[in-house]
Amino acid sequence: QQKVIVIGAGISGLATSIRLRSQGYDVSVFEANSYPGGKLTAFSAEGYRFDMGPSLFTMPQFVEELFKVADKPISDYFEYKKKEVVCNYFYEDGTTFSALADEEKFAEQAAKTFEVDEATVLNYLHRSKSKYDLTASLFLEKSLHKTSTYLSKDTLKAIFNINSLDLNTTLSNYNAKVFKDERLQQFYNRFATYNGSSPYQTPGIMSMIPHLEQYFGTYIPKGGMHQISMSLYTLAQDIGVKFHLNTNVDEILVEKSKAAGIIANGKHIYADIVVSNSDVVPTYRRLLKGHKAPERILKQPRSSSALIFYWGITREFPELDLHNIFFSKDYETEFDYIFNKKEVHHDPTVYINITSKDVPKDAPDGCENWFTMINVPSNTGQDWGSIIKAARQNIITKVSRLLNEDISKLITYEAVLDPKSIESKTQSYQGALYGASSNNKYAAFLRHPNFKQSIKNLYFCGGSVHPGGGIPLCLLSGKIVSELIQKANQ
Ligand code: FAD
Repeated sequence: QQKVIVIGAGISGLATSIRLRSQGYDVSVFEANSYPGGKLTAFSAEGYRFDMGPSLFTMPQFVEELFKVADKPISDYFEYKKKEVVCNYFYEDGTTFSALADEEKFAEQAAKTFEVDEATVLNYLHRSKSKYDLTASLFLEKSLHKTSTYLSKDTLKAIFNINSLDLNTTLSNYNAKVFKDERLQQFYNRFATYNGSSPYQTPGIMSMIPHLEQYFGTYIPKGGMHQISMSLYTLAQDIGVKFHLNTNVDEILVEKSKAAGIIANGKHIYADIVVSNSDVVPTYRRLLKGHKAPERILKQPRSSSALIFYWGITREFPELDLHNIFFSKDYETEFDYIFNKKEVHHDPTVYINITSKDVPKDAPDGCENWFTMINVPSNTGQDWGSIIKAARQNIITKVSRLLNEDISKLITYEAVLDPKSIESKTQSYQGALYGASSNNKYAAFLRHPNFKQSIKNLYFCGGSVHPGGGIPLCLLSGKIVSELIQKANQ
């Protein structure tokens, strides 16, 4: 039986370990933290429970697949329900908009709220779907770095239709061409943030992202987002994956151009195959020190990071749902601050996630657990202390104004997470949420491959490598890695 070592128990490391174990490998996962899940973790304090990182759950089919490959009934581990209200939006001019899951109802509501007709909205969504259908199998489900990927029928189809992918325009220009109403443009521009990019730089092909939310739907796991990582951790253990928590890996052993194991706690631990779920930058800088690093790839600008206030709020707001957005007045300037100035604008878009709407025990009776987040630049040494102080005040003023209630008086519990702490907790380079940003049309090709040509039996999974960040893509990178390993060992 071949031995596999997975470095890191992030969502992608968990997915990879489940798939490889199900294929018959002897799999051990080494995780620096005392808990699995990486960014997908949670904490509780003073009667409140907070999901710490991801809050939006789409494409649950990729989680389901893991239970299928492990041949275990998902219902023994994980339950989730669909959200009918996807997100509530609040604009500075007083407009409010509830985005509904049902496509027809969504278009009807959009036509009532914005200057747009239903057909234009539906047509946008259909184009979004065709972009996804044309490119998913090429960009998301296979290695971009194997010739076989380019010899497939799907690839030829995508190439023949390249003009319909809107690669040569930015997402914001594409949206401005379709929609006259600037509020609707802002609505669709926001999808760039789903992979930590700027709508003013990322290509128009990102207009496929609304399709994921609208067509595949958004979900909330019973017990909150944390259940995604915890159920996969339990599943992995049940099928025989061995976990070594509190164990930082210091080096990847390479012998005769082949991965041979790791060094952790001063011990050499040998294996036939090594998979790094650690961010690709520290994988090279710390774990593969003597080896040539792909500098061009490692130097790609990072995606945005996040500043989060976890607030215990002693009131319930019926106008809020699980996901809520309070838009900035000037979106372009907000993104100019994040990606060009690498600072935080005084009027940021505020996202409030409240799991107690769907998981009532997440907050005491009559209270709500607010995960209050703004997009911020990745950590390049900014003075986070003063950024946090100013942002806290700006957020409170903005949300209080739009909700007509002084929320500062309702905050009885507070914890904060900033890019520096994301970096130190998960070893993610600069605390970026999604690895490199997708702020140019070549970004997909400039992500690190899932394998390394010059070191055999070394593989890479997770948000900083192909196909990218976010839970669905991280789960897919686990799938790509397990398929590459299977093929190499046939
Ligand atoms: P990580 O979660 O980064 O985990 C890597 C693991 O490897 C860590 O546990 C780390 O301790 C371990 N590790 C690293 N180096 C070593 C080493 N040398 N030795 C041992 N262990 C090591 N995604 C969504 O889909 N929806 C969202 O709504 C969303 N919102 C987000 C909000 C926030 C605040 C954050 C932080 C992220 C968000 N994301 C969201 C992104 C999503 O969380 C990530 O893309 C995904 O969880 C990354 O998983 P991963 O497997 O790449 O690794």
